Amino acid sequence: MPTVHAYATTHAGGRLEPYEYDLADALGYDEVEIDIHYCGICHSDLSVLEDEWGISQYPLIPGHEVVGRIAAVGEHVHHINVGQWVGVGWFSRSCLTCDQCMGGNHNLCPSVEGIMLGRPGGFADKVRVQSNWVMPLPDGIARSDAGPLFCGGITVFNPIIQNNIRPTDRVGVIGIGGLGHLALRFLNAWGCEVTAFSTTPDKEAEARAFGAHQFVSTRDEAALQGLAGSFDMILDTVNAELPWDLYIQALAPKGKLHLVGAAQQVKATVFPMLVGQRSLGGSPLGSPAIIRDMLRFAARHGIAPQTEHFPLAKVNEAMDHLRAGKPRYRIVLDMD
Ligand code: NAP
Ligand code: ZN
Repeated sequence: MPTVHAYATTHAGGRLEPYEYDLADALGYDEVEIDIHYCGICHSDLSVLEDEWGISQYPLIPGHEVVGRIAAVGEHVHHINVGQWVGVGWFSRSCLTCDQCMGGNHNLCPSVEGIMLGRPGGFADKVRVQSNWVMPLPDGIARSDAGPLFCGGITVFNPIIQNNIRPTDRVGVIGIGGLGHLALRFLNAWGCEVTAFSTTPDKEAEARAFGAHQFVSTRDEAALQGLAGSFDMILDTVNAELPWDLYIQALAPKGKLHLVGAAQQVKATVFPMLVGQRSLGGSPLGSPAIIRDMLRFAARHGIAPQTEHFPLAKVNEAMDHLRAGKPRYRIVLDMD
């Protein structure tokens, strides 16, 4: 019976402490077991650790940007081999038979399972998940920095697909953090004209290096007002209340304010949405097929997260660094 060495907390907002648990003797027929080498830290790890969304279960082992090697495969798994390098993100299982799974939208399956919700996540040396959520790493993507593609990366790539974004489109990204900096890289490589919206003026040079053609400091609401009617999509990666009406007014007719940041609510005036046929929506990560496309696109264009590495033993320092809004731009935990 393999023992997993992890870091867990027993209560909301608690420190993460060394924690061990035993895996079941038998690996599920459709599962793989991964020896974890790296795990990115997403803001959602912090939100779940602190039970901001009221869905956390304890003891909680966070971690959902996993990269490692396949240690074992279940008896029905024939497409992945022991020893292969793979990644897995927020989702760890879906039913495969509902309308959403049958339609290729596994991330919208009503019974989709979150890897760290009521089951152990990736701040650990091992994890087991359903094999169809595990993706082989393509050549050309550095293993040590690939983890953040499996949550941050797919979460900002999927809106490009869902909204049929074209290379001629003008797009904006609100919040240049873990998700936002990857969004700039993806949207620039897609061919779009890209604007970064940030509360942190000293991120301007890096945002431009990530692919922003324009940088707007959002402390200056007048600058936002001056952009009315400009964008085909604005991608919001912030977990806070924003001047929603200003962003909706900044959309071109038929433009969309696409939310991936987990703000509590949106308060917006309806009329600009009616008049310009503008819309508001959101999405959770992406389906397995779109994760594969994202990885291929990232490998082809040399898109990788900009990371800071911490050893797993310093996970609490890493979480404090994230709480303080200091990562430039994504933290990755090294398991060895
Ligand atoms: P992050 O690295 O902490 O970045 C968030 C960025 O938002 C910050 O760097 C900052 O950028 C901006 N920001 C922070 N507080 C703000 C405030 N009060 N007002 C305006 N801007 C603020 O977080 P992340 O890992 O990218 O995650 C971002 C959000 O996406 C979180 O809510 C997370 O839970 C959510 N998420 C959702 C999904 C999904 O499936 N939909 C998946 C992953 C993550 P500037 O300094 O540039 O302003
Ligand atoms: Zn995440």
